[in-house]
Amino acid sequence: MTVLHEVQDAGPAVEIVSRRDAIARGLRLYFTGVPCGRGHLSHRIVKNWACVECKKNWDAVDPKAKLRRKARYEADVDKNRESARSWARDNAQRVRANVAAWQELNRERLPGYQKNWRSKNGASVRAAAKRYAKKYPEKIRIKQANRRAKKRAALGSYTSSDVVEIRELQRGRCAYCPTALDKFHIDHIIPLAKGGTNYRSNIQLLCQPCNNKKYSHDPIEFARSIGRLL
Ligand SMILES: [Zn+2]
Ligand SMILES: [Zn+2]
Repeated sequence: MTVLHEVQDAGPAVEIVSRRDAIARGLRLYFTGVPCGRGHLSHRIVKNWACVECKKNWDAVDPKAKLRRKARYEADVDKNRESARSWARDNAQRVRANVAAWQELNRERLPGYQKNWRSKNGASVRAAAKRYAKKYPEKIRIKQANRRAKKRAALGSYTSSDVVEIRELQRGRCAYCPTALDKFHIDHIIPLAKGGTNYRSNIQLLCQPCNNKKYSHDPIEFARSIGRLL
């Protein structure tokens, strides 16, 4: 039977889910419909029976608890991140169920939440990438070396006179748009990373904007999207 209640920590109506059912369904939260000792009609946390509203107060009472957790995590980021990832891999179904449950609880807030997360974290995601590059320069170097190795390992080669001829065949314009080529990018039609060759037949010349656009797309889909059939 589904009983609907006004709940403090969630939207207007919530289903009664016993802790046992929540465990069976892989949920992180359950809801008994019975107020906690402090009178909150709120969700409880499966792993420690705690009331969600009370837990919010803990953070208010001990604001440094969060910082201590963060410090513990950051004391060995690599190990903690790896163990979090391997837990998530082993519990993929549970993770999905929890995400779905959270989204269900926060359905109305979701679009705003996601937009807010992006605007709040876009810069820090980029900053984190920068910090990572600074902290692990050798990993970045290996990545670049692999990319170069792939490039070197690609079959074939072309000459500068090939490029001159290709430019003439393209009538001095970008292969994708009418821009006259002054500066240009030598582009592999099928990227080397996707098994393209270094032969002249796989070379085209692009203007800077088309090169940027192509870079983030599948080459064949990109060509089709601008009306070229490959
Ligand atoms: Zn409470
Ligand atoms: Zn172009």
